Amino acid sequence: CGIIARVGRSDSVGALVSGLESLEYRGYDSAGVAVKNGTGIKVHKRSGKVAELKSAIRGSEPNGNVGIGHTRWSTHGAPTDDNAHPHTDESGRVAVVHNGVIENYEELKASLEAEGVEFVSDTDTEVVPHLIASHLAEVGTPEEAFRRAVQELDGSYAIAAIVDGFEAVYAARQGSPLVLGLDDGEYFLASDVPAFLEHTAEVVYLEDGDMVVVEPDSVSMTTVAGEPVSRDIDTVDWDP
Ligand code: GLU
Repeated sequence: CGIIARVGRSDSVGALVSGLESLEYRGYDSAGVAVKNGTGIKVHKRSGKVAELKSAIRGSEPNGNVGIGHTRWSTHGAPTDDNAHPHTDESGRVAVVHNGVIENYEELKASLEAEGVEFVSDTDTEVVPHLIASHLAEVGTPEEAFRRAVQELDGSYAIAAIVDGFEAVYAARQGSPLVLGLDDGEYFLASDVPAFLEHTAEVVYLEDGDMVVVEPDSVSMTTVAGEPVSRDIDTVDWDP
């Protein structure tokens, strides 16, 4: 029920976990993070509280400057460790967090299974990393693979993905909230502003049908269909 992502030059794990703690008010049954570093993508996820995730990774923090995190409110599949997000493709190169419901996941899952893909969760979400991986094999760039995958989805979603070998977070929204946070040397994406407000109050509220690619020194915004869009930067007011 909550998403956080960070792209920066320093390690992201602390900011991801504290972002998830700030999203706890939304309600959830499971939590997880995935970060990318020089040795691949590391995923830590489990059912239960963010505090439990935090103590599970304490001492063996998966370091990485690009990462995604999630608090889950189960809609498809019980609140188990396997069903917690992030979800990955079979190679572990692509990791995805998702809020919402993929309405056509059964058809998508059936055609992926017909291609030989083995699913490890009962979620609707797991089709997304497999779709991205399958497009990546055809088109080469993660941005285009992500776009094609999202174009296949019906339903509601805020999605953020990372792909091994690329310094970027790929994200899109349709019917679920997603906000971009802009800071010096770091960018955030989250379901709601409190997730990154301790770092920055400069935000862009993404709209339905928007897709963003966030890299360490740039953000590109388009529609999922591929048209360029420009969105205003707002400064959030809050009582210090
Ligand atoms: N439908 C997804 C699931 O059940 C995402 C739920 C959510 O928004 O947290 O895993």
